[in-house]
Amino acid sequence: MSKDRKHIIIIGAGFGGLYSAKELLKGNKNYKVTIIDSRNFHLFQPLLYQVATAQLAPEDIAYPIRAIFEKNKNITVLKEKVSSVDLDNMFINVDCGKLYYDKLIISVGVIPEYFGNANWQEVAPPLKTLEDALKIRRKILNVFERAESEMLHPCDENPLNFVVIGGGPTGIELSGALAELSKYTLKNEFRKIKPERAKIYLIEAGNSILNGFPKKLQLAAKKSLENLGITIKSNSKVIKIDAVKVEIETNGSTEIIESKVVLWAAGVKGNFANSILSTNNNIKFDKKGRVLVENNLTIPNYRDVYVVGDFANIADEKGMPLPGTAPVAMQQGTFAAKHIKGKSSKEFKYFNKGSLAVIGRNAAVADFGTFHISGFFAWVLWVVVHIGYLIGFNNRVLVLIKWAWSYFVRKSTSRIIYRSDMRSLRK
Ligand SMILES: Cc1cc2nc3c(=O)[nH]c(=O)nc-3n(C[C@H](O)[C@H](O)[C@H](O)COP(=O)(O)OP(=O)(O)OC[C@H]3O[C@@H](n4cnc5c(N)ncnc54)[C@H](O)[C@@H]3O)c2cc1C
Repeated sequence: MSKDRKHIIIIGAGFGGLYSAKELLKGNKNYKVTIIDSRNFHLFQPLLYQVATAQLAPEDIAYPIRAIFEKNKNITVLKEKVSSVDLDNMFINVDCGKLYYDKLIISVGVIPEYFGNANWQEVAPPLKTLEDALKIRRKILNVFERAESEMLHPCDENPLNFVVIGGGPTGIELSGALAELSKYTLKNEFRKIKPERAKIYLIEAGNSILNGFPKKLQLAAKKSLENLGITIKSNSKVIKIDAVKVEIETNGSTEIIESKVVLWAAGVKGNFANSILSTNNNIKFDKKGRVLVENNLTIPNYRDVYVVGDFANIADEKGMPLPGTAPVAMQQGTFAAKHIKGKSSKEFKYFNKGSLAVIGRNAAVADFGTFHISGFFAWVLWVVVHIGYLIGFNNRVLVLIKWAWSYFVRKSTSRIIYRSDMRSLRK
């Protein structure tokens, strides 16, 4: 590689990786950039719950990486899983061999954390990938279908109960959307069952949902969820999950909730902390497996390697790790690229634009530090912000129209259960 055309490798085309690439491409042709992802698409994770609850189609929130960089000739896109990084010799390993870098940006995100109960993942899927969302969608729709059939030909018990574990933003978004689906979207489509009678349980181990949000917003969110008929069980620890039920313990007493749809939104951990990076003794990880980075987002002792986004742990001014959110990943991605170009300040500083969490179709909570809002206006804000984030999505307007349509008519057609899905149901 000639010295005047530095090779920059970006691992991961999530928010961190894409923003790094976009910044590197601005006005400078002195770099050869390779962006590598094990998938061929960028996934807009904040709208995953809409796919999982059949309000949007998978294509609405996933966009081919190649299409994003179609016009940028100095960027190469590779669909490869990176298996290891040799920091000392400055190369990465992919299936087809070694790739050497001058600078490396790692933005591989996080994976679900089951706190020592990895076997729960099969029965209580997480919501992290497109496949997860489709699996959840299939499970939810099949439970309604099966319940209708059972009214004609009684077979196995199939209560219309749904359990969401974890009262963070993902958990409340999922349970709110589930309530909307059963109460409105499916309402008049069945003859024997009443989908609107479905029971949704939200289980939270802490004493409140939306831990980290101001008390006032926690209470507003709780009220909105309860108005949707969702039962919130806080201080409740999950003891056991199997294919048909969940066992929880609340203040010393145990309870069993029968449900064939249990969804996991309770935690995440560092992605390949235990494989490609941890073999190097110089790297320090936090308890969640995220890399502890320097103030300029590089790995201590490796100033050519940046870690950005969910996989990085860097503290805010209060000493707390920055949250795993899209704006953090975007700002860090941009910073790393500017740092490489010699155009950024020495230290990364996060500009906090606030936190938002949506609850169903009409309500959200928004925390802007000094002021908070909840209800309909927070929801409108959430929609505007998220449409704005739909990076490189040429169909942004289309998604907005679709969204608006499903908002007004409360219907969606993204509810196809493919044949193979039906087979898996019968198993
Ligand atoms: C359901 C859900 C809802 C969310 N809602 C919000 C929200 O409303 N607002 C908000 O701000 N944030 C939200 N987030 C968080 C936000 O999506 C993340 O903070 C953000 O995606 C982090 O970006 P990232 O680049 O660090 O990682 P990611 O976006 O996760 O991207 C990582 C990429 O790395 C790739 N990769 C991983 N390992 C390898 C490997 N070994 N080789 C090659 N490629 C690899 C993956 O395929 C992936 O494309 C939500 C997340 C989820 C899951």
